[in-house]
Amino acid sequence: MTLSKSYGATRALDGVDIAVHAGESVAVMGPSGSGKSTLLHCLANIERPDSGQVLLADERIDELREPARSELRRTRFGFVFQSGQLLPELPAVENVALPLMLGGTPRRTAEQRARQWFPPLGLTGKEDSRPGALSGGQAQRVALARALVTDPRVVFADEPTGALDQATGQEVIRLLTEVTREQRAALVVVTHDASVARWCDRTAHVRDGRLVDEVGGAGSVGAGHSGADGIDVPDGTGCTDGIAVAGARAEVPR
Ligand code: ADP
Repeated sequence: MTLSKSYGATRALDGVDIAVHAGESVAVMGPSGSGKSTLLHCLANIERPDSGQVLLADERIDELREPARSELRRTRFGFVFQSGQLLPELPAVENVALPLMLGGTPRRTAEQRARQWFPPLGLTGKEDSRPGALSGGQAQRVALARALVTDPRVVFADEPTGALDQATGQEVIRLLTEVTREQRAALVVVTHDASVARWCDRTAHVRDGRLVDEVGGAGSVGAGHSGADGIDVPDGTGCTDGIAVAGARAEVPR
């Protein structure tokens, strides 16, 4: 059974079947109101689908109840939004360390791990800057670090370049796709920008709550951007066990 979700009479998702494998990136594109956010929210366990299953590796996650749902989001998923995700009163490194500290990691260890993300994201020297002292692109790269620091299995990005100029946005999506590939995380990017989608391995087009033709992005591996070796992620990350998010059938290939 495929993924469906209605709000009253509005069928926001109408039978979606999608799988995103470890190390793979998928752009989700479609007109406003087509169901992109609802799809992302159902996959990320922020909303519960009316029907269909969401699988993380072989584990069904759509039936989890609190507090397991929150814990899953905090430990296995990373989130990047358009803007406004950093706490303005905290230095960049503390913003990045926050998800670890919320999970009980001692401050010192959390900050050490957070600091390791600054060089690969081009943020060396910005560790102690408050968000207000960073450019939009720098702040968004701090947000990437915060999404990645827990070594998530899936990163969900909702219009991650929406508040940035073209060149800055390209740099952010380049880093996001390279780092998640290196980290063997699955990446789901909602975007309205085809030049952002091109960095992903595939594009899923959504219309009226359904997936229409899925096409490979021009930016698939080997076609236009540096490969998995292009970026050095901190040690201790990386996973080879083929984790996937799958809407619908249990027999989704992985
Ligand atoms: P997109 O992200 O592509 O703009 P959404 O997933 O936000 O689309 O919305 C899909 C449809 O579901 C739209 O018709 C929208 O109005 C409706 N919708 C989304 N969230 C809610 C909600 N919380 N309550 C009622 N309707 C909603």
